[in-house]
Amino acid sequence: MSRIFNFSAGPSMMPESVLERAAKEMLNYADSGMSVMEMSHRSKVYDKIIKDAEKKLREVMAIPDNYKVLFLQGGATMQFSMIPLNLMTKNKKADYIVSGSFSGKAYKEAKKYGDVHLAGTSKEDNFSHIPTQEELTLREDADYLHICENNTIFGTTYNYLPETNGVPIVSDMSSCILSKPVDVAKYGMIYAGAQKNMGPAGLTVVIVREDLVGEPQEMTPVMLRYDEMVNNDSMYNTPPTYAIYMLGLMLDWVESMGGLKGMEAHNEKKAGILYDYLDQSSFYKTNVVKENRSLMNVTFTTGDEEMDAKFIKASVEKKFSNLKGHRSVGGMRASIYNAMPIEGVEALVAFMKEFEAQNA
Ligand code: PMP
Repeated sequence: MSRIFNFSAGPSMMPESVLERAAKEMLNYADSGMSVMEMSHRSKVYDKIIKDAEKKLREVMAIPDNYKVLFLQGGATMQFSMIPLNLMTKNKKADYIVSGSFSGKAYKEAKKYGDVHLAGTSKEDNFSHIPTQEELTLREDADYLHICENNTIFGTTYNYLPETNGVPIVSDMSSCILSKPVDVAKYGMIYAGAQKNMGPAGLTVVIVREDLVGEPQEMTPVMLRYDEMVNNDSMYNTPPTYAIYMLGLMLDWVESMGGLKGMEAHNEKKAGILYDYLDQSSFYKTNVVKENRSLMNVTFTTGDEEMDAKFIKASVEKKFSNLKGHRSVGGMRASIYNAMPIEGVEALVAFMKEFEAQNA
């Protein structure tokens, strides 16, 4: 069977050239006589793989030297606990913006560990916009402000970075990292599960300003301490070795696409094709306000549950996979991360047109 256009929200499509390279290097990596999967994480060969992955990430994202890069496990969800345990330590206060499902989970988890304030939410309009600066109530003595920069389920994204008067911003970039340039220096910490734009599941990348890595809250399990991970170069124990290797391959591919500027142009073009079509259609609609439309997750509906179900069934027959919206919102969602080619989006729009013509 040939490969299909996979619109999964994550784990999601990877570039074919990356998968081919991984396949080619599978049995015998760099003349080591073994697969990366079989290699000791303390070996010389692997040491180069992990160091190169970090070096490439620093180059691609232009990460300043005063930021640490950590390769962890436990997904972005583990960070929902690690962040308050490690960063809510000065005044034991943190502000959270709840702009969707994952930021809601992060907020709920953080409340276990200190004085957590809901600085803003768009829950009342079913998360169809990102709270604006005017809608926020920020505390000057918060240890950090947590945001989720791209809401995978609702298909919204920030078009500004909150003004916090020096309070560090901690951003969940799970579904938008590497999709466009970011000014890392504007953040206290950036984190992301790898399984959308950085490779296979199993790896979580943390980029944290070094002065924020201090003594965590008492009783913090050793595996959840940033300081231990920093002091051990992410190798306190066995890291997710193969996923880190794959991140290296993904970063080579991003570079070959013109780096993050190139990715941004590629992503704007793809999302533009889809949104332009949605905007002129009276059959499909999207609930997201224009200024917060995600480049990565495009949500839409026909406005009729039965018609949506028919659409999804027909899309599967045409070999488009994972267009069903998240179970909590319904409708449809096309996740078009970095690796989704333009042809995938063009084919989807052609199918949507055909379906509209037959069912409108
Ligand atoms: N945050 C965001 C924005 C996500 O999209 C996801 C997963 N889809 C998570 C957090 C949770 O990530 P994980 O499954 O890696 O814990």
